[in-house]
Amino acid sequence: MQRFVGETQAWPEKRPAGERARDFLEIHREFIAEKASIQAARCAQCGVPFCQFHCPLQNNIPDWLKLTADGRLEEAYRAAAATNPMPEICGRICPQDRLCEVACVLEQSKHGAVTIGAVERYLTEAAWSEGWVDAISPRLERAESIGIVGAGPAGLAAAERLRQRGYRVTIYDRHDRAGGLLIYGIPNFKLEKHLVMRRVERLRAGGVSFELNCNVGETISLNEVRSRHDALLIATGVYKAKPLNAPTHRSVVPALEFLIAANRIGLGDEVADFANGRLNAKDRRVVVIGGGDTAMDCVRTAQRQGAESVICLYRRDRTNMPGSQREVVHAEEEGVTFDWLAAPKSVRGGKSPAVKAVRMRLGAPDASGRQTPEEVQDSAYELSSDLVITALGFDPENLSAWGLETTREGTLAVNRRFETSLSGVFAAGDIVRGASLVVWAIKEGRDAADAVHDWMRTQARMAAQ
Ligand SMILES: Cc1cc2nc3c(=O)[nH]c(=O)nc-3n(C[C@H](O)[C@H](O)[C@H](O)COP(=O)(O)OP(=O)(O)OC[C@H]3O[C@@H](n4cnc5c(N)ncnc54)[C@H](O)[C@@H]3O)c2cc1C
Ligand code: SF4
Repeated sequence: MQRFVGETQAWPEKRPAGERARDFLEIHREFIAEKASIQAARCAQCGVPFCQFHCPLQNNIPDWLKLTADGRLEEAYRAAAATNPMPEICGRICPQDRLCEVACVLEQSKHGAVTIGAVERYLTEAAWSEGWVDAISPRLERAESIGIVGAGPAGLAAAERLRQRGYRVTIYDRHDRAGGLLIYGIPNFKLEKHLVMRRVERLRAGGVSFELNCNVGETISLNEVRSRHDALLIATGVYKAKPLNAPTHRSVVPALEFLIAANRIGLGDEVADFANGRLNAKDRRVVVIGGGDTAMDCVRTAQRQGAESVICLYRRDRTNMPGSQREVVHAEEEGVTFDWLAAPKSVRGGKSPAVKAVRMRLGAPDASGRQTPEEVQDSAYELSSDLVITALGFDPENLSAWGLETTREGTLAVNRRFETSLSGVFAAGDIVRGASLVVWAIKEGRDAADAVHDWMRTQARMAAQ
């Protein structure tokens, strides 16, 4: 261990930008065993592992790095899987530069962090190919049944935990495939879909039931679902696109509509709005408005669809954008242009469609300490564009019909035990936190599952008295 002095930071090989910008395959190849082991051996084995504190799942990172460096891969995998039901997924899509890796002391001391996510991905892929990923087999079967609304990472993580405890578990989802944003939001070049389906199949094989194409609130009422189960967990995510506060044209497309269509095409589905060009960037001048990770996914998808040009318009500068810096680098390499410190004023359709924009500068910090963007006078300009995509974040859909208490932001209000205002109804993931990260959804899904179990045991004790 502690080989950081002689060995530099390294990632698995990144495919050349020209090659990867023409397909939807993941951009990194697999780590080769030797490289993964050397990278893991760079770990300083800190007595106080900041990486672990900065991982929402509190993964035992130094332990599985040491085991990987020692060639004890199965044990390394088991240590990683003990706290994370989908390590290969987090290894791929966690923004490590804002989580575990930013906290690595090697990063702080300018040696470059251990590439923790890449090692996590490597050892879990090794586990899949070596057959170390265990089937879900509860030690006892319980008669009680738990319903979960939403098959995203929060719902899937909760389902695994509850099924392992022996509960009968049914997940309801309005989509035709399970996985939530892992399937329909995050593009294939970040997370190939067979990896998600493999996890879903494992749950199915372990006895979890899925009722897909079932929109709770439309296909079936929340009360009806509730009456079928002893407890219910709501993990429905947030899907209402934040609007552009400017006059727009009807041709403007919300990010998720564009990304869902692209993911469906990748999965072999027919999408009428892709075929008729509405959600297809091919040969078009694309402007994406926003500076978060969803905007990065849109620009990189548009580039791969064969857009004539792709510009990302964002009102702050590069340093102050909310998205991951690594994603910006990938996008730039793939040919995307960034127009920093620029804000849209309106979108024009018709024969010469364009985004009218103005230049911005960063002013005084607001209450949160973030510098407020201000308009630069007489700086108006136009960007010709025949496909404008807005990626300005998400709000919860209106849940008032469910009769549950909500917060000011419209998310579901829960107490520290993930209980909503209705007895036996719990909630977790983005529908509680607001738009967040997969790793947080997994963490909350697992914790909420434990809370459901505690509640069930309390109910059983009370009934027995
Ligand atoms: C484009 C995009 C890219 C992202 N990229 C990343 C990334 O790279 N890394 C990262 O960590 N995070 C990323 N995120 C965020 C991450 O995907 C979410 O934080 C995470 O998926 C939330 O998990 P969840 O289970 O709470 O909700 P979701 O994944 O949204 O799943 C909710 C599920 O509930 C279902 N549902 C909703 N309402 C109903 C209903 N009424 N009845 C039945 N089913 C219903 C939905 O169909 C969906 O399947 C991204 C988000 C987006 C939009
Ligand atoms: S789950 Fe995410 S934050 Fe935690 S160690 Fe893995 S990559 Fe880092």
